Amino acid sequence: MIKLARSAGFCMGVKRALDIVLELSRTGGGPIYTDGPLIHNPQIIELLERKGIRSLAGRGAPSRGLIVIRAHGVSPERREALRRIGLPLHDATCPDVAKVQAIVNKYARRGYEIAIIGDRGHAEVEGLLGYSRGLGRVISGPEDVEALDRGAKVCVVAQTTQDVRLFQKLAENISARVSECVVCDTICRSTKERQREAIALARSVDAMVVVGGRNSANTARLVTICGETGVTVFHVESEKDCDALSLRHVNRVGVTAGASTPHWVIERVVERLGAILSLERRGATRCARLIGQGLIRTHLYTALAAVCLYMAACLFQAVPAQAPLALGLGACIICVHLAHRIAGRGLLSHGEETLTQEYYHDHRKSLSFLAVASGGLSLWIAARVHNVLFICYLALIVMGLYYSFEEKIGKCVRWNGGWSLRTVPASKDIFVATAWMVAIVLGPRLVAHAPWTFRATAACGYVFGLVFIRSIFHDLRTIHDDTIVGKETIPTLMGIRGTELILGGAMVGMCALVLASAIPMGLKIALAVPFAYSATYFALSRRRFAAGGVWCDALADGQFIMAGMSALIWSAAGQG
Ligand code: SF4
Repeated sequence: MIKLARSAGFCMGVKRALDIVLELSRTGGGPIYTDGPLIHNPQIIELLERKGIRSLAGRGAPSRGLIVIRAHGVSPERREALRRIGLPLHDATCPDVAKVQAIVNKYARRGYEIAIIGDRGHAEVEGLLGYSRGLGRVISGPEDVEALDRGAKVCVVAQTTQDVRLFQKLAENISARVSECVVCDTICRSTKERQREAIALARSVDAMVVVGGRNSANTARLVTICGETGVTVFHVESEKDCDALSLRHVNRVGVTAGASTPHWVIERVVERLGAILSLERRGATRCARLIGQGLIRTHLYTALAAVCLYMAACLFQAVPAQAPLALGLGACIICVHLAHRIAGRGLLSHGEETLTQEYYHDHRKSLSFLAVASGGLSLWIAARVHNVLFICYLALIVMGLYYSFEEKIGKCVRWNGGWSLRTVPASKDIFVATAWMVAIVLGPRLVAHAPWTFRATAACGYVFGLVFIRSIFHDLRTIHDDTIVGKETIPTLMGIRGTELILGGAMVGMCALVLASAIPMGLKIALAVPFAYSATYFALSRRRFAAGGVWCDALADGQFIMAGMSALIWSAAGQG
């Protein structure tokens, strides 16, 4: 089992700085220069450079564009120097760092010596020193405390990413040494949460894997902190380091990551660890895992899930399910989803994707063939059933292909000043949910020439709601990639907290729909089972039970399987 820390990856300040520069790059205004690398991660830096966002370090003063101060902040002198360049200056200093700067400024003005517990030479610490009016000094260990004058009055602050326990120990030493001491615990909430979670996780697993750059100070701190719990700790930079890890006899692995580790690096590590742990197990388990992965990656599993949802929708409408419709629907789903996966590499390139994305790239020829064959099969079946169904499936396939390949074919359709379907907020979530609703409820309904009923409306809401929830689950997992690539999903617009609220509201609303419909329409409360499943899955994912890559998608699709199973069992019991 792999448990992933919820706090793993970008912190609030890093995400905020990324959002600011990406927003500036969207609105134009020439090249964007950050005062030093925005994030200590070469892959992100390369991605940003492709968008015209580069570091000012090592360049002369630029003549056009704009300048952004990064999350670490700068000293007042440096800010003035940047201002003198004469280009628009934007401030992405993390609000938590800005608070420490204000504290240093306040106490330095009152004549206090400023003891900054942190790493000498670190950009944030250098910025803080700039606010200390020459009264600041860096404290990295007990020997620096010894150098303090006993009669001094001292204000103690911490670099925001400092080790909580080291800070407390050094602050106590300073308090005991000098005549007057004001201690300000300025370690940020994000760092405390990350460290607290890493310790709790380390105590509950057999081994910890910390993901992040070898030159990242906050990652190194996580390694030390986890090691102090007595658990075996491995520090890896990418999934390539995982093969050398000794994981024999290890059942539970905890994973956490530094504040500048991208999502896809963490996911690749989790996927690789999952594969290694299954290799350590017996042949049957390994075989089952490979078969499962094959079913999920070819979207045969998604097709099965769609058929299950179709059966549940039939139960909702009190109409019999038809085998040709189920088969055609499954084939249509395979075609559209495979096309989307094959096309969906966004700005990320080889080496920056998750292992699942890499799989679609490496097998694109055979998977493209499968997508075309599935599309052909679904249209052939639809044509044999009814012309209306053929038109319906054709429209879904064409629209699905357009959405997936819009970037490639979009140059000819961007008729409205670069307008693109992807720039419409939450377009993907709404588009996917609508497409499934059409394929599962509207198409079969039109074919049957059945009159429109309240049951049909409720079935539409049921299918739309379930698919919408699944889509948001997926968006939450890929929020970091989507932010960088510039996709307008609900989490990139509203943040994780806001999206979780929407998700909770959707689940409660859908449950209410089923329960409210159940009594007047004689429907089965069993149709609410998928929402109970989704709520459990949501709660478990918040509690760090990680399923890497494709397994996450499979678990999210599990709600459709649940819907179908509930419908089947209920019908088989003679009560449907
Ligand atoms: S580590 Fe904390 S203070 Fe530093 S950028 Fe991240 S959130 Fe801000």
